[in-house]
Amino acid sequence: MKTYQHFIDGQYVDPVSGRWFDSIDPYRGEAWARIPQGDAADVDRAVKAASRAMREGPWAEMKATQRGRLMLKLADLVEQNAQRLAELEVRDNGKLLAEMLGQVNYHPQWWRYYGGLADKVEGRVMPIDKPDVFAFSTKEPIGVVGAITAWNSPLLFIAWKCAPALAAGCAVVVKPSEFTSASTLEYAALVREAGFPDGVFNVVAGYGHEVGSALVDHPDVAKITFTGSDATGARIYAQAAKTMKRVTLELGGKSPNIVFDDADLDQAVAGAVSGIFAATGQTCIAGSRLLVQNSIKDEFVERLVALGRTARKGNPMESDTNIGPVTTPAQYKKILEYIDIAKSEGARCVLGGGPAEDKSLPGGQFVEPTVFVDVDPQMRIAREEVFGPVLSVIGFDDEADAIAKANDTIYGLAAGVWTGNIGRAMRMSKALKAGTVWVNTYRAVSYMMPFGGIKHSGIGRESGIESIEQYLETKSTWISYAQGAPANPFIMR
Ligand code: NAD
Repeated sequence: MKTYQHFIDGQYVDPVSGRWFDSIDPYRGEAWARIPQGDAADVDRAVKAASRAMREGPWAEMKATQRGRLMLKLADLVEQNAQRLAELEVRDNGKLLAEMLGQVNYHPQWWRYYGGLADKVEGRVMPIDKPDVFAFSTKEPIGVVGAITAWNSPLLFIAWKCAPALAAGCAVVVKPSEFTSASTLEYAALVREAGFPDGVFNVVAGYGHEVGSALVDHPDVAKITFTGSDATGARIYAQAAKTMKRVTLELGGKSPNIVFDDADLDQAVAGAVSGIFAATGQTCIAGSRLLVQNSIKDEFVERLVALGRTARKGNPMESDTNIGPVTTPAQYKKILEYIDIAKSEGARCVLGGGPAEDKSLPGGQFVEPTVFVDVDPQMRIAREEVFGPVLSVIGFDDEADAIAKANDTIYGLAAGVWTGNIGRAMRMSKALKAGTVWVNTYRAVSYMMPFGGIKHSGIGRESGIESIEQYLETKSTWISYAQGAPANPFIMR
């Protein structure tokens, strides 16, 4: 078993507590690595190192163009190490190697995009309406950033959060999920190799209530960028208020995937499957509510079930596997509980509906791809995030009915629309209350495209040019060149 260490101030170091915990391979159900169990003392060391890096030394002095160059170097290093990093992720989260390799290979684009953006952060000169004043705004790094990530795509979230943060000139302390820390801890060596000064990028591993909470409480952390569940997000939002931290929250969803009878049904069936069974449903953007126009519902469900039935469960490292294990025992239990809840609420199961019976699968954490029909929009299975391969099919009559049902949720992360009618696509895109709307596609992301949720799905956006603003503060400077008698000191200038 490999024993990992935190990465603080440019060095791998043992946890202050002297404690480690095991990381479990979800496919085999076996411990394979020892992860340092951080606490507030490690967080304090890392935050001090990050604060120092922002205050003095090479990072504080570095020009934005140079920061950008380091980011380009890191992009190349990630590319060269993609296979190794992807395999580490699979070992920890059990998602398909094909998916994780795709993510790690795409990951450098965030560093290249924000590396190029680093020296294009500009202030403005205001044509101010006061005499003899030169007034301008500048953008400054917000301060030390705490980046707390979820277990489903650890390295992708690092790119989404740290690339804009470092482009802005911040320093970061990353807290990976306790279930999937290894790839982030190994990634730190590449950041060092790229030439980032000590203290700019730190990783403190451990549990949420210890490391995550200490990061949120730390008075010298200016901002928390978080990806995880809405319950944890809400806790962090409230806790961050005590030190008036800025927050970006990327949370969960119950995304509607909406199929009209004028859609290309082959595409739509594949899109529905991709929306819910890819990544074993463990994705924030899962299209877990399939809204199908009543005129085609029965035929559509039949085709969907036929395709879902072909999904091969197995070793996530192998290229012909479609469905990997569920990442954690708690998540496995939760998915099975939701399946029971759906059945007890009266939803009818037409595919799967329980743990996989295949004895050749080790580890025991496999759930059958599951489809429920006769789902009432008020049922819990239609309203709560399962984070597993469990689909609720709900019928609708027309556009108005589809919009009403799609928006009847506390979430607002994403939505899919399948239609051959461009006018309908435009109307639906406008009416859907979600951060992302995909038309005739699903689960597409890019470094260029802002991503994030509304309502309980979060606050703020990642990716795209605007995301760098979340790591910047605006300073307004007024310089008077007035001469002669001072202005009346008792009134506002
Ligand atoms: P989680 O909320 O349990 O944990 C996320 C992170 O928060 C982990 O690193 C955890 O250790 C930490 N944490 C836990 N308690 C904490 C606390 N009190 N203070 C500070 N940090 C704490 O989420 P998860 O189970 O790892 O991930 C699944 C969830 O993430 C799902 O709800 C999913 O929808 C969401 N998610 C959202 C996005 C997005 O971009 N919107 C992407 C992926 C996953």
